[in-house]
Amino acid sequence: MDYSKFFSAALNRLHDERRYRVFADLERIAGRFPHAVWHSPKGQRNVVIWCSNDYLGMGQHPKVVGAMVETATRVGTGAGGTRNIAGTHHPLVQLEAELADLHDKEASLLFTSGYVSNQTGIATIAKLIPNCLILSDALNHNSMIEGVRQAGCDRQIFRHSDMAHLEELLIAAGPDRPKLIACESLYSMDGDIAPLASICDLAEKYGAMTYVDEVHAVGMYGPRGGGIAERDGVMHRIDVLEGTLAKAFGCLGGYIAGKADIIDAVRSYAPGFIFTTALPPAICSAATAAIRHLKTSAWERERHQDRAARVKAILNAAGLPVMSSETHIVPLFVGDPENCKKASDILLEEHGIYIQPINYPTVAKGTERLRITPSPYHDDGLIDHLAEALLQVWERLGLPLKRKSLAAE
Ligand SMILES: *Cc1c(COP(=O)(O)O)cnc(C)c1O
Repeated sequence: MDYSKFFSAALNRLHDERRYRVFADLERIAGRFPHAVWHSPKGQRNVVIWCSNDYLGMGQHPKVVGAMVETATRVGTGAGGTRNIAGTHHPLVQLEAELADLHDKEASLLFTSGYVSNQTGIATIAKLIPNCLILSDALNHNSMIEGVRQAGCDRQIFRHSDMAHLEELLIAAGPDRPKLIACESLYSMDGDIAPLASICDLAEKYGAMTYVDEVHAVGMYGPRGGGIAERDGVMHRIDVLEGTLAKAFGCLGGYIAGKADIIDAVRSYAPGFIFTTALPPAICSAATAAIRHLKTSAWERERHQDRAARVKAILNAAGLPVMSSETHIVPLFVGDPENCKKASDILLEEHGIYIQPINYPTVAKGTERLRITPSPYHDDGLIDHLAEALLQVWERLGLPLKRKSLAAE
């Protein structure tokens, strides 16, 4: 049997739908964020990264790099096993204490990624609650969807951030049924924020437990970088907060934080925790350094918001179709996969600007976009260059601009 034909057919389907994905081979330059070298088919080129989720550039911060190097030099590289076998090490224990403190919770538990923390965390929590009903936001990340699926219990999807619909489902479930509400605090493709206080009100009124993914908010929102829940003063009302060390903290790993007994139960039952090697000590030390720095330094957060606001203002003034976003995410509407890919290719090849196209299934078909993520280190000159390059690309591809009069408003 010719097995390879199955795979080539699968790839052809992606090509036909214009959503076959190509990665850019990049090499970041520590200390020069957001500048990087692109290893292009035609040789090395200098480019500016405009789509990194290392939102604050912490992956190159001297304290963070220093902690990683120092720890690796002192204790070596790998953890040496799963946590149950031989992998629990001091930097990991310190990091968990740091995270519990960040979210003002009794305990936290680390996983090898944010993806794994959602997948195995949600599944394990829901499985430990008899007859649990999961109420999941329609736009939840794939890692949460997989967690819900693996939980194997009943689930209902509420319309995105629609509190009336969530309430309807909570009422229909009845007061005696255990219910788990799962949502994100900041949705990273549209840049909108969930009404966490209302979700907590409903959870309290109808006796539901809450699980909130703060992956795109930790480090960036709240006085100490505790996320949207900290900013909105509702951290203590949320049962389980989940986050990543790989975005604003610039490292790798994911975690949940909550009451000691919930965290201990997940530690004891979650396959995605038990059967995989612990994070290396150097990564843990680096993450701890990033979290500690951002707990006291507001400069990165303030400058980040300032840069995002400036990018939105300049692109809007140029008539570019910036999708409304209340956060640091600047989505630029394109609306079809072919032009989205073309725009991204021209930006990279002709303007040295790297913005990965965002296509289905990451976003709905017909809403393909360029997702721009300004950092504290994108200066005015880089922003002006971005706007000029985008205008040229829009003109070249015949993409619509907003009317100037509207844009000026
Ligand atoms: C990126 C992401 C994750 C996964 O986190 P990783 O640490 O990258 O695995 C989880 N949830 C959301 C909403 C994300 O965007």
